[in-house]
Amino acid sequence: MAPAGAKKAVVLGLGISGMAAVRFLQDRGLKVAVSEYRPYGALRVEEQDLAGTLACETGGHSEDFVLQGDIIVASPGVPLDLPVLQAARTASIPIVGELALAAGNISVPVIGVTGSNGKTTVTSLIGELLRGCGYHPFVGGNIGTPLLSAFSDGADYDVMVLELSSFQLDLSGEFRPDIGLLLNLTPDHLDRHDCMEEYVRAKMRMFIHQEPEDYAILGGDDALVMQQAEGIRASVATFGHDRQHQACIVGDEIRVDVNGREAGNFSLAPTSLNSMVNHLNAAAAILAVTRLGAAGSCIDGGLRSFVVAAHRMTRVAEVRGVTFINDSKATNVGAMAAALKSCPPGVVLIAGGRDKHGDFAGLRELVRERVAHMLCIGEATDMLQETFGELTDVEPVRDMQAAVTRGAALAKPGQTVLLAPGCASFDMFTDYGARGRVFTAAVHAMMDTRELI
Ligand code: ADP
Repeated sequence: MAPAGAKKAVVLGLGISGMAAVRFLQDRGLKVAVSEYRPYGALRVEEQDLAGTLACETGGHSEDFVLQGDIIVASPGVPLDLPVLQAARTASIPIVGELALAAGNISVPVIGVTGSNGKTTVTSLIGELLRGCGYHPFVGGNIGTPLLSAFSDGADYDVMVLELSSFQLDLSGEFRPDIGLLLNLTPDHLDRHDCMEEYVRAKMRMFIHQEPEDYAILGGDDALVMQQAEGIRASVATFGHDRQHQACIVGDEIRVDVNGREAGNFSLAPTSLNSMVNHLNAAAAILAVTRLGAAGSCIDGGLRSFVVAAHRMTRVAEVRGVTFINDSKATNVGAMAAALKSCPPGVVLIAGGRDKHGDFAGLRELVRERVAHMLCIGEATDMLQETFGELTDVEPVRDMQAAVTRGAALAKPGQTVLLAPGCASFDMFTDYGARGRVFTAAVHAMMDTRELI
């Protein structure tokens, strides 16, 4: 909610979230100005159109412009240590994010999903399960549609399912989800958060305004997540591989109980979720929808119709007994570890890109056990060679095409060529999707050359 009495807001960052924030604030009668670091010419057409209707500065954030607001709304991508935000703090001007604005304006149940990995999968799966149970959910936040656009799109939602990043939770104000999920915690974005403690603190903001009638759903297999449980006021439910969890994974089945009663057994065998990490993701999602009150009997349909999004352990091809897997979305150490654990030993791993200061040293044992060859791309090449060079065969390659060709030459039948970079893509590609598409195209191009098939 905008602080009472606020008349003028300055929105920092005019991406899709910033545009939704402008509309939200204008609809509530505030005068809105926008400060954007990109030059005007780099804005998308719709951003230029909106900028033309407002007071707007582009090409950087100036104190004179930004401090004229009596509230500053920071878009999720904006670094919180910007000098202009320091100046706003000194001037006691409130800095809020979209969650803080939405809090108090939402009249339907809210499910918030956070964690280091699996957020998109769990958020979209919860949406699919709810649709299968007759709900009309808004699904968005950090994926696809920004949260604040739900207030102006004219749809009549009966529940909101929000993927929330640590950046969004950083400025979440009084936000209080009815059901909050924390899937797992491994180092990520430490290029933006000062340290792991600060990253964990941001994630835990999911729960700080919850009351005992709310639910906190926690990844029970993750020791760091479970260490945080103590301070939570909401009713805690956990998922994982142990029988004590309210959603427990047994083989390829999820068993969920409600208050000690069995609510249902859900088989993942006939679904796209039948993999190690997606067993966990499915358990989390099923637990959330049963806590919302959905009947167990309507969940199977959604599990079957759900399709895991591209670039997440996507099997691209099998060539002469070698499996090629695209996990380009593995942009941090935790996702890289999960990808390696999902493959049999003898992996030819394509890794690297822009390092986000992940704890790669923590993967040394796993790499020694699973990786036969590591092919390194991008800025992280030297760091990967230093960290893993003594443990396995580490080789720099020029680009993704060279990595695929070399991977195909090295891998033996039964082995996997796995793209799980553990790093961001921005040094070589526009995003992880572009990186995954280049990998996939290189595999297909190689299959087209007859001598390799
Ligand atoms: P996020 O939205 O948190 O980035 P995604 O669902 O997009 O999560 O998956 C991102 C990456 O993390 C993919 O490489 C995927 O294979 C991996 N992943 C998905 N779920 C998990 C999980 N529960 N634990 C570890 N890694 C996961």
